[in-house]
Amino acid sequence: MSILKNAVESIQIGMEDFHDSDDRRVLSAIRNLYAGILLLFKYKLQQLSPSGSDEVLLKAKILPLVSPDTGEIEWAGKGKKTVDVQDITERLRSLGVIEIEWTRLEQLQRIRNEIEHYYSPLSAERMKEAVASALHLVMQFCEPYLEKTPSEILGEECWGQMLDVASVYDAELKSCREKLEVVNWSFKEVLESVPYMRCPECDSELLRLRDSTLKDKDKVFVCGTCHEDSNYASVVGSAVSESQAGANHWSIRKGGDLITESCPECGADSYLRAQDQCVACLYIPDNTACKWCKGRLEINEHWEGVCSYCQYKYDKLMAE
Ligand SMILES: [Zn+2]
Ligand SMILES: [Zn+2]
Ligand SMILES: [Zn+2]
Repeated sequence: MSILKNAVESIQIGMEDFHDSDDRRVLSAIRNLYAGILLLFKYKLQQLSPSGSDEVLLKAKILPLVSPDTGEIEWAGKGKKTVDVQDITERLRSLGVIEIEWTRLEQLQRIRNEIEHYYSPLSAERMKEAVASALHLVMQFCEPYLEKTPSEILGEECWGQMLDVASVYDAELKSCREKLEVVNWSFKEVLESVPYMRCPECDSELLRLRDSTLKDKDKVFVCGTCHEDSNYASVVGSAVSESQAGANHWSIRKGGDLITESCPECGADSYLRAQDQCVACLYIPDNTACKWCKGRLEINEHWEGVCSYCQYKYDKLMAE
């Protein structure tokens, strides 16, 4: 069976099982949906493999060989192992498939692992999140890279089912995000992190605040999926670390300083260097300037109150 046909059938079976309330079929729905999406990507790798190369891009291990006929270097697959998720995304990215939100694939994989390893019955909301992730991947991938619309590839019925489920989920998510975006957060970094906020208990994105008028430290998030409460620091810490990761990376590459650092109090990468405060646990150090030279103290020097240079000079003096 061709890879594309296999991919389409997996996704179609996934969507059929999705409508069932039987737990075992829920497991099969997620497995099939995830497998189908991976197969779609593999189909592209198959297409991109040079002709006569025995679908080299689908092989986990690729070795260069000198062709006995032409004397030129050719790439050949070694062994039976085929590409895994990481290989698939790396190869497609490097071959120009870039307009894809790969984090959605990771999200789908996380949900599949959750249900596979813990065999926990997946909540209806989490199921919808999986379908929504699959749908966005299909939308971003099919037309630009396979030159067919999603409904041409998956069939009108299956695509219609996906759209129904995903639009309900996306509407719910939009409403959660809009409410969080109008909250009067004390830090702009927290506002920027809203799209990264997730429930620490179940990883769902459907978070709301119990009372948005409370002070930051008293704010409580409630999850629309598992209905657990989470405190401000536990949600904001990881959201800010994730949302600032790109800015940190670029700042360092340009020879600058980190924008957020690891907080000595809560451990999240949410300590704002410029303001000397953690936006998650709201930790503020007692000392931010060296008591001897008045220079700026790094996070690991706060406790001593002396910068490492002064400390070094002092230790050297004492040793003489
Ligand atoms: Zn939750
Ligand atoms: Zn902190
Ligand atoms: Zn100093």
